[in-house]
Amino acid sequence: MKTRTIHPPALSVLLPVLAVLSCCNGTREGYYISLAGPTQGTSFHISYLSADSIVYQEAVESLLHEFDTSLSTYLPSSLISRFNRGSGGVKPDSFLLSVYGASRDIWEETGGAFDITVAPVVNAWGFGFTDPVETDSALIDSLLRYVGMEKVRLENGRLVKDTGGVMLDVNAIAQGYAVDVVSEFLESKGIRNYLVEIGGEVRALGRNSRGEEWRVGIDKPIEGLQVPGLQMEAVVALSGASLATSGNYRRYYEKNGVKYAHTIDPATGYPVQHNLLSASVLAQDCMTADGYATAFMVLGFEKSRELLASHDDLEACLIYNDDQGRYKVYCTKGMKKLIRN
Ligand code: AMP
Ligand code: MG
Repeated sequence: MKTRTIHPPALSVLLPVLAVLSCCNGTREGYYISLAGPTQGTSFHISYLSADSIVYQEAVESLLHEFDTSLSTYLPSSLISRFNRGSGGVKPDSFLLSVYGASRDIWEETGGAFDITVAPVVNAWGFGFTDPVETDSALIDSLLRYVGMEKVRLENGRLVKDTGGVMLDVNAIAQGYAVDVVSEFLESKGIRNYLVEIGGEVRALGRNSRGEEWRVGIDKPIEGLQVPGLQMEAVVALSGASLATSGNYRRYYEKNGVKYAHTIDPATGYPVQHNLLSASVLAQDCMTADGYATAFMVLGFEKSRELLASHDDLEACLIYNDDQGRYKVYCTKGMKKLIRN
């Protein structure tokens, strides 16, 4: 059976990370409860202020399990895997419906740079849910026939595809979306102070156990650096917002001296090769932040900066090499206001 590559988070949450359920950090309003566990080939960490000391470990685990049952391309029985295998489409549940809608919006806004139908090509390059194959330009060209969001539609309550080979890969957005799902679950329980992190994608509200703003670190994009939090570029204050990072410095491979990144340009079918090292995006919800972070890795520095100029709903820090190969950091105005170095 194929196992998912485990890749460490790109953001480091500045709170004690505990491998097991731990409790408690008291304030006048209640206790801070920490939850942790494995999910989506990575891990989750949650901290929340609870007035009634209810521990939601099991509830969160079952929510994340339900999420995987819908959207995990690594589970053959999931709804998305059934969509991918067949040609007749599926009746989407709320998870698939919502991820499809958000992905379509980001696809439109980014001129197709973000495209969850890139799955067949991601798989061919060895970053997907099937075993890698020997790629050549003829194979990539033939797979590009199946790529393009216009090939997937909602029709009479079903998500349908134009032709059998079309498949979806929501790994660019699923961690962020899962963060939203868990955050909204906590909010539905009346929780107003929390931080939820999955694989480095984070959403926070209110304050931490010391009564301070939540702070999240953006790592320096150093190739091969596997441990988050060791070398940080910036620390960002987060409340009522989400932060997600994409970068090709952790997930890539080298073959015959060429580096292959896990972000694919849907226009060419090839892994992107450009000067953008990492993109950290702040948005209200984490699914949006996660999607745009990946899209920026496809677009490169200049186009990402242009897109940010016309998007009031997004803030970002882009780390890149300039024309002379010098290491540079560009942060939007709104992001600069949140940086607490
Ligand atoms: P992230 O780490 O959030 O940037 O997501 C990277 C993952 O998104 C890759 O491993 C692929 O599964 C998928 N992916 C690669 N290229 C694209 C793309 N252009 N649009 C959407 N998803 C992509
Ligand atoms: Mg992403």
